[in-house]
This record gives sequence, C-alpha cells and structure tokens, in this order.
Amino acid sequence: MGVKLTIPDTFQPSGQRFVVDLMLMRLGRWLRLMGQDVANPGNGSDWEIRDQAAREHRTVITRDRRLWQSCLKIERPCILIFSSRIEEQLLEMAGAGLPMRLDPQRCTLCNEPLEQMAQGREQWRCRRCDKLYWRGSHWRKMEEMLEKIGSRREEDWGSGQKK
Ligand SMILES: [Zn+2]
Repeated sequence: MGVKLTIPDTFQPSGQRFVVDLMLMRLGRWLRLMGQDVANPGNGSDWEIRDQAAREHRTVITRDRRLWQSCLKIERPCILIFSSRIEEQLLEMAGAGLPMRLDPQRCTLCNEPLEQMAQGREQWRCRRCDKLYWRGSHWRKMEEMLEKIGSRREEDWGSGQKK
C-alpha cells in the first residue's frame, strides 16, 4: 500500500474525466466524441491545470514534460503525449487503454452531456449550445480512422510480443 498509480491502468469504456492542455484541444474534442468528459484548461497555466484536475478529480493529458513531471510529484494522474499528430495521439491513448470507438455523450465544443433527439433516432443535441450530432458520412470516416488506429494498436502489441 501507499503506492499510487500515476496512470489509470484500466479505462472505463466511457465517462472518464480528463483535462487537456492547450496543445491538445483537438485531441480533447476527439475524446469527447468517444464519450469522455474532457474539460478545457482555464488559462492553460501549469498551476491552473493541476488545480483544476485536483478540484474536479481529472486525469491530466499533456504534451508538456514539465507539467507531466510536476503532476507525478504530487501524485496527480497524468498522461504524457509525445506526438503532435492526431492519429498518433489517439494511438497513444489507445496504448493507455482507451477504447477506440465513438460514443456520442459529450458536445465537442462545450463538453456538455448530449441528449438523444428521439427514441431510436441516431441524432443528438447539445443542451447548452444546440449543436447537432448524427451518424453521417463524416461520422463514418471518424469511425474508420478509429478502427484503423485500434488495429494498428493490436499490430504494435503483437510485434512487441514476438520481439
Ligand atoms: Zn455544446
């Protein structure tokens, strides 16, 4: 006992709580489409992000090694992202255990919960900004990309095992 994990070793399929740094806002919007609760950083300073994460029980996602290290020091869960490309960033999240699938629960703009327009209809609306979401061609493209990343993740894992 006494040892705290710095990275969650298993993810819930949805509903994890994160806060992203200013460099990872795009990744944050993707994570919201995947059902995760992702807060925007206030003014984006390291102090503010750490404080917000502590207050709201969020895992920090950052590309800033210094912020990552300072989170480790205070045992605040933190995921360090290396890549600047969205596909690679998602692959890194897959590596951390996040399932690669869309799950419309959060507005990409304001992180508010979405409500389904009508029973059985694949259409959702943000309660706050009224943005609409539906399964169109854009949606399918994103699903394809996530599938590809998911299978790449398995390949990487497979080759790693073989040596
Ligand atoms: Zn919204």
